[in-house]
Amino acid sequence: MARVYNFGAGPAVLPEEVLLEAQRELLDYQGCGMSVMEMSHRGKEYSTIHDEALANVRNLLDVPEDYDVLFLQGGASAQFAMVALNLLTPGSVADYINSGAWASKAIKEAKVRGQVNVIADTSKDVPTRLPALHDLKFTPGAAYVHITSNETIAGTQWKVFPKTEAPLVADMSSDFLSRPIDVRSFGLIYAGAQKNLGPAGCAVVIIRKDLLERCPPDVPIFFRYKTHAAEKSLYNTPPTFTIYIIMLVTRWLLAQGGVKAIAERNRQKAAKLYAAIDASGGFYRGTAVPQDRSDMNVTWRLPSEELEEKFVKEAAARGLKGLKGHRSVGGIRASIYNAFPPAGVDALIEFMREFQAKNG
Ligand SMILES: *Cc1c(COP(=O)(O)O)cnc(C)c1O
Repeated sequence: MARVYNFGAGPAVLPEEVLLEAQRELLDYQGCGMSVMEMSHRGKEYSTIHDEALANVRNLLDVPEDYDVLFLQGGASAQFAMVALNLLTPGSVADYINSGAWASKAIKEAKVRGQVNVIADTSKDVPTRLPALHDLKFTPGAAYVHITSNETIAGTQWKVFPKTEAPLVADMSSDFLSRPIDVRSFGLIYAGAQKNLGPAGCAVVIIRKDLLERCPPDVPIFFRYKTHAAEKSLYNTPPTFTIYIIMLVTRWLLAQGGVKAIAERNRQKAAKLYAAIDASGGFYRGTAVPQDRSDMNVTWRLPSEELEEKFVKEAAARGLKGLKGHRSVGGIRASIYNAFPPAGVDALIEFMREFQAKNG
């Protein structure tokens, strides 16, 4: 059986070692005679898994004591709503930076609940880009400032985060654990698991503990961060198998040397691919401005849509899958998250050269 190079944006590639370990333990988890999928979420075996997953995330990002780490359901999209429900209190305003499709969705959801001030909007810019830090004018007394650390579709990524007086809330769905961050400069971080952390079915949230208290009383109990923080994300049945895989992925990350080491590997993979795009004499054109280029989702165009279609098809025939850009923007997108092997980037670059020689 041959595994392909999976450039899909999400759900995305997982470390092969993790899949093999899950396979070995599938029928009989460590001698308990059942699968992780079949066991009680209150039992001793699952508790150990759950605690290690939480501890690994803390360990990888050096999460300070006054922050809680939560595993919640509903993916990142549920967080668009939960952030506003918990923090956009009556009479307050939240600042949002609209950097693309995902930020737009977060804004749309927050507007259902309260007052939103879009303080910068680059969502329609071509080439894709992020606003300059010195152009940001924050609303005095804002409840929070929301950003999207990596725009998965536009292929842009904040290299330096804005410094804000209000709590900074970041959607890190597509670059969580891909590089070191200073958790203290954020009030809340959230990420859907299926891009860079594990399978679908879970979002991780890192929240400063004082923010747990902001939730207005009209918010249903289930949608309060405080409810889940108080129960260590075991208020109700969590997505146990997903959290088990997250535990294995985070253990794998620690074994790779942690986020510092994986960030260096990610940077090298992305730099190689961008260099190949830039060396093509304009046959391949990167869609993001160079200073905002993402290390996770590399996006580019070919001279025509016909050639793009041909590129995606011929690449797939060679085992390079999932290169089609998001349906809303077209083009090519190579998602090269933590678990994506460097050899896959080399194989893609070789294919790009051959394709250009034949079609350029
Ligand atoms: C994929 C993605 C989302 C949506 O994630 P779901 O878990 O499907 O809700 C939100 N934000 C970003 C940046 C994403 O890449």
